[in-house]
Amino acid sequence: MNTSLSPDERADLVMKEMTLDEKVALLHGVGMPTDDPVTPENAASNRGVGYTVGVPRLGIPGIDMSDAAYGVRSSGVNGRYSTALPANVAAAASWDTDAAYEYGKLIGTELRAQGFNMTLGGGVDITREPRNGRTFEYLGEDPILAGELVARLIQGTQSQNIIGDIKHYAFNDQESGRNFVNVTVDKRAAHESDLLAFEIGVLKGKPAAVMCSYNRVNGDYACENDWLLNEVLKKDWKFPGFVLSDWGGTHSTEKASKAGLDNEQPGHNWFGDKYKAAVEAGKIPQTELDDHVHRILRSMFETGVVDRPRQRYVVDPIAGLETARKIEENSIVLLKNKASVLPLKAGAVKTIAVIGAHSDVGMISGGGSAQVDPIGGNALKPFGQGPTHWLEEIWFPSSPLKAIQARAPHATVKFDVGTDPQSAAAAAKGADVAIVFAYRWESEGMDLPNLSLEKYKADGKEVDQDAVIAAVAAANPHTVVVLETGSPVTMPWVDAPAAILEAWYSGSAGADAVGNVLFGTVNPSAKLPNTFPKTEADLPRPAIEKPPAMHWSSPSQEGEAKVPDYGVTYDEGVKVGYKWYDAEKKQPLFPFGYGLSYTTFGYSALKADAGDTVKVTFTLANTGAREGAEIAEVYAALPAAAQEPPKRLVGFAKVMLKPGEKKPVTVEIEKKYLSIWDESKNDWSLLPGDYTILVGGSSDKLPLKATVSLK
Ligand code: BGC
Repeated sequence: MNTSLSPDERADLVMKEMTLDEKVALLHGVGMPTDDPVTPENAASNRGVGYTVGVPRLGIPGIDMSDAAYGVRSSGVNGRYSTALPANVAAAASWDTDAAYEYGKLIGTELRAQGFNMTLGGGVDITREPRNGRTFEYLGEDPILAGELVARLIQGTQSQNIIGDIKHYAFNDQESGRNFVNVTVDKRAAHESDLLAFEIGVLKGKPAAVMCSYNRVNGDYACENDWLLNEVLKKDWKFPGFVLSDWGGTHSTEKASKAGLDNEQPGHNWFGDKYKAAVEAGKIPQTELDDHVHRILRSMFETGVVDRPRQRYVVDPIAGLETARKIEENSIVLLKNKASVLPLKAGAVKTIAVIGAHSDVGMISGGGSAQVDPIGGNALKPFGQGPTHWLEEIWFPSSPLKAIQARAPHATVKFDVGTDPQSAAAAAKGADVAIVFAYRWESEGMDLPNLSLEKYKADGKEVDQDAVIAAVAAANPHTVVVLETGSPVTMPWVDAPAAILEAWYSGSAGADAVGNVLFGTVNPSAKLPNTFPKTEADLPRPAIEKPPAMHWSSPSQEGEAKVPDYGVTYDEGVKVGYKWYDAEKKQPLFPFGYGLSYTTFGYSALKADAGDTVKVTFTLANTGAREGAEIAEVYAALPAAAQEPPKRLVGFAKVMLKPGEKKPVTVEIEKKYLSIWDESKNDWSLLPGDYTILVGGSSDKLPLKATVSLK
């Protein structure tokens, strides 16, 4: 308890006193307290999804884990309140590293208030496959954007004395067959894409924990993959914390322990009695056991969970709503705004038609283990239906209809459910503006069969939201479409409406944020973190291959012999997202990094100077009539010898400017971000040659260009 000693020294002192049983107890969970009855082992837990007993005899508390991707999960079963922030993909659309810190900090604060001391958030798998049902939980398709953002998010959470986490390490890029799918990817492609996001997240965010994923990578399960865990994470990145398995993602005792898994969750099939027996039989060396224990203990000291014991207090929902609203305002992407139909002028619009997607009562959220329980329950159901359920659409009671009426108190606001194109068009006809809400729900545990808007049932009939939008836009030239999606969607009607907003899964205060953008209290400033393709046929894989039918959970529980031969080969390699569309010369619907504002920006005077970093400077001007923030994007084209896609994002800055204002902007580019992975050296390598630096406001519109020679 001597806080002047280092976390490593403190861990060593504790270990000197520990018995073998106490050490083994730190290596695993005791089930899922959320679902399990109270037992002596889990009694001290806060009833989250995972709990590792501490060493009470020596003053070491238990590790009390909760999912917390966009807010603290399972608050419903505990009768507590959690703020739902906008989905993680929305946070990525803000390209705002300070906002990412606030996002993580709010989660840390509410975890603490609810009695937890560890998050299971920090999802950063790259969007290689936009039909992945967890796309909303991740931070987009670019490793540098995603890595920089997750690092700040982790710092924010850990600032509240919470054990931080980054997941799912690695290549858990689809849900189909996730418990056994074998991902084949070559090492250069791996390091330059998915692993780079983790590398930045681990080195800059310093999470105390890494969650290894369910899938296999190049033949071995991620949670017993010596290359991923020992070689890359622990040796090359010098990660000092601990690795815990995804829930049921452990498949062995000796192999997993040797490969670098430190903690099995949620139970102890492999790292309990079997582990103890293996140590006693000399099959697992004492030094290996001690390394795992040391990593767990030093992480607890490092993050302050020993020195600041768990204590529940009241969550501040008012502060939470305000943070959620600001983050959403910073994350809504304006995709189209013909003849400046937006922002709406509250005094001038007399009639408004609000149509579709339950916009009278709420806004949709992302499902699975990320699901946050809404205050008041699911907006589509009567109050008092109990906690949320797996694979159930949850609508937060944040009503766009009310938010719009509140901002145009003198206007007549009509509502149409938007399930029938004719009646929606009739409602829209003659209104000063028609605002159509449309959605696509997604969740852990499923992938999307396509990138269309949701086809859902109402009164026994299938609702075609594309047809509703097309009919409304044909009836009213002032049609605004507001999308609530986690993944990109296709838009067969894209030319028809005057304006399109992507609001993502907008969180607890979503409707207020959307209202503020529609009426111009807030000037939109977000940009797409994922490419929106014209059609699924333009993706690297036209479809996700169906996995063989099998039990949803871990195959190891049914015997390893039954592991199906199911895999996916990422032969597009480093060409993820915009790098694919660039290299294959495919024109997307909306490119990566794209997003409009109610003002306009000008770029000039680019310089790029090489030193320890490449220092890129340019001038950014607000050339319009409103204050607004611009995300300036810096890309690099590598020398031809690198054999890379045409360009990669290497830096960015979000800058606020008054009308007419000009500001000098500096973005420092790390050399690693300009390098390629050299398999023969097993390291990053900067090729000598000419690098073209491109700067602008979207990946397809980069007006500034300069060359810098690097040796
Ligand atoms: C998910 C993890 C989650 C864990 C605990 C797993 O099914 O993949 O992201 O943290 O469950 O709920």
